[in-house]
Amino acid sequence: MGYPECDGPQESPIHINTAKTVYTDYPPFEFSHALGKLTTVTLTNNGHSVPGTLTNTNILHQKQYYISFGGLHNGEYYLVNFHMHWGSSDDEGSEHEINGKKHVAEAHFVFRSDQTNETAVLAYLFDVSDNENAQWAEYVLYASALKKVNQTKIYTTNIKQLMDGGKHEFLRYTGSLTTPPCTQGVIWTIFTHSIHLSAATFQLLRENVFKTCFRPAQQLHKRLVHRNYHINF
Ligand SMILES: [Zn+2]
Repeated sequence: MGYPECDGPQESPIHINTAKTVYTDYPPFEFSHALGKLTTVTLTNNGHSVPGTLTNTNILHQKQYYISFGGLHNGEYYLVNFHMHWGSSDDEGSEHEINGKKHVAEAHFVFRSDQTNETAVLAYLFDVSDNENAQWAEYVLYASALKKVNQTKIYTTNIKQLMDGGKHEFLRYTGSLTTPPCTQGVIWTIFTHSIHLSAATFQLLRENVFKTCFRPAQQLHKRLVHRNYHINF
């Protein structure tokens, strides 16, 4: 393998047993104004997934799309890309597993801080339901047309609605990117509220793009997983 970090001690994804998580009082995330506006993005089939990136690469434009707080280190974390992982059936596809449950898919929003060079990923799990998130249904429609590596599509979407409006309950741990170069020290945030898409929509991805594109769970080792909400046992 040409990527030594993919064998590191802090890999992602992981299995999370919420009974073993530690409550931590993180401040809520703040999402920049631009994240909630209609934004032109470019989808690219990169052979691993179909990430969306800001089409306008002007630095002043790119600096409008950021998150802050949420227990991250000080400053702003700028959007790098968003993408989805899925599997060959409705029984698999998510990268993280919560309490032994695999979800049908998982979306990642990758952000990076200029100040600390840290990467923070916001992750959302999907459930199959006909009550679809319209922004994700549109993503799948365009992504499923990109059957070959390096094909691209430009369209307009609302990134905060892709993030399900910015929900509050989440899990937190330190891991890695789940595709090469598997960069370590990534701050993971996994929201516990699922996003909905229909079975037919996931089938479009499997039939047209990749049958499957998720990494299996890696060893937790000595890492602690935090949660920002109270649970009753
Ligand atoms: Zn990912």
